[in-house]
Amino acid sequence: RSKDAGGGVHCTYEPTLHADAEERRKLEFSLRRALELNEMSLNYQPVVDAQTEQVVSFEALLRWNSPEHGSVSPAKFIPMAEDTRLIVPIGEWVLREACREATRWPGHVKVAVNVSGEQLLDPHFSTTVVAALAASGLPPARLEIEVTESIFVRDGTTARNTLEQIMALGCSVALDDFGTGYSSLGYLRKLRFSTIKVDRSFVQGAATGNPESLAIIRAVVAMAQSLEMTTTAEGVETEAELNMVRNLGANKVQGYYFGRPMVASEANRLFYQHNAARGAA
Ligand code: C2E
Ligand code: MG
Ligand code: MG
Ligand code: MG
Repeated sequence: RSKDAGGGVHCTYEPTLHADAEERRKLEFSLRRALELNEMSLNYQPVVDAQTEQVVSFEALLRWNSPEHGSVSPAKFIPMAEDTRLIVPIGEWVLREACREATRWPGHVKVAVNVSGEQLLDPHFSTTVVAALAASGLPPARLEIEVTESIFVRDGTTARNTLEQIMALGCSVALDDFGTGYSSLGYLRKLRFSTIKVDRSFVQGAATGNPESLAIIRAVVAMAQSLEMTTTAEGVETEAELNMVRNLGANKVQGYYFGRPMVASEANRLFYQHNAARGAA
């Protein structure tokens, strides 16, 4: 790596940098065509009422299966779609598809759709939501939009105005991954979120005996209650974790314990089996 290696000075790191950039470029190229080539699909993960254990909603989670790159993780392609603004057309497809599939579920079951800041700042976003509802016939009250705190960083006023339009349609808005972003709490005073989703990291932390995580869950539940919002505990994987978050007062629970993200037909089946097993109508 030293200078006396002469021309070889770059060789130790440039090939990997170059390979990373090349891989990114290829991935991005494929991502541009993923929608039209039908490589995108949605999985649905159940969210259950902590008391009754009935399914109250499904969260739509985007999947990309590329012939070239295999199954690409959302953690990888969502940021890329955001950077390139491809998230706008992709997000529109997600909304339409999720609303369409949700019309097949029993009338009280909602569908939750994740929305990025890029989408919210797009001037056509609320028109897109109206169109997805109209095309599917899904009542607005059955659509929940999930946003993270990060949307308030760049242009908080526009994000807030757009969310207010969405709420005026009758949709609900949930605050996702709460506690992991930039936590200025000002927007909690201004926007009527229906639900605060407590990030999985706190549930996992509390489950492994971390007292700070436990204290944070308690505080978020108390804050949500006084703001008349509900809480969902994310990432519940075991019965012990379920009991813990239930005792802490979480209203809803989501995680592998009740079901992994699954295809729509499985989601349908699980819903009926799940409720039948618990003796519900
Ligand atoms: P998110 O909205 O917080 O979604 C929850 C993530 O946690 C999902 O990861 C889900 O599979 C995972 N998960 C659920 N339960 C458990 C559990 O018990 N244990 C563990 N270890 N993980 C659990 P996924 O599907 O990989 O999605 C990652 C993120 O990508 C999402 O986080 C969301 O921010 C984003 N995303 C997914 N679909 C979309 C979409 O359609 N549009 C946008 N804008 N973002 C999306
Ligand atoms: Mg989410
Ligand atoms: Mg989340
Ligand atoms: Mg997340």
